[in-house]
Amino acid sequence: MIKLHDKYFKPFISAQEIEEAITRLVHEVASDLKDEIPVFVGVLNGSFMVVSDFVKKYPKPCEVTFIKLASYEGVKSTDDIQRLIGLTQDLTGRTVVIIEDIIDSGNTLHEIHRIFKNENVKQLLIATLFYKPEAYKKDFKLHYIGIKIPNKFIVGYGLDYDGLGRNLPEIYQLKTTQHMTNIV
Ligand code: 5GP
Repeated sequence: MIKLHDKYFKPFISAQEIEEAITRLVHEVASDLKDEIPVFVGVLNGSFMVVSDFVKKYPKPCEVTFIKLASYEGVKSTDDIQRLIGLTQDLTGRTVVIIEDIIDSGNTLHEIHRIFKNENVKQLLIATLFYKPEAYKKDFKLHYIGIKIPNKFIVGYGLDYDGLGRNLPEIYQLKTTQHMTNIV
């Protein structure tokens, strides 16, 4: 168990399970995009680790870029999403694959669709390492899903709790009942 700020988190998904999920995602994407040079777009901050591991495994030429949005304060999703860093390159006719760390309510995804609507891309594909089906409120298709998880707050592997936990190589889940024993 770990403590970040005022909350306790328990081990949930190992680094090995994450790696296996990313390997599966890479194979699915690469086999669908046989002769294309895709543009992978990571959604910062949370996606920096998954994008890094994903593109290192990607077996063919690709481009990599990032956008930055914000939708979370503390452990609760908010509807207040802003585009902070935009795309500068021309994506006309390109296959764009959004790489998300996690899809929760889908609000961020909604914003991404809004941003890319005017980019004249050939196709917009969505890949996410983690997905909370119980929390998802939108109809946008999720083309590639790594691991489905329950509707509970997680940290690690790029995901934070108020700035902490991004550096953890595995995933921890928020403990709702806190026991003061056995805390490392
Ligand atoms: P959505 O807009 O789909 O509700 O949430 C997407 C964003 O919220 C993610 O990119 C991530 O930054 C944040 N988020 C959603 N669920 C979690 C979670 O369980 N833990 C953390 N740390 N961030 C989350």
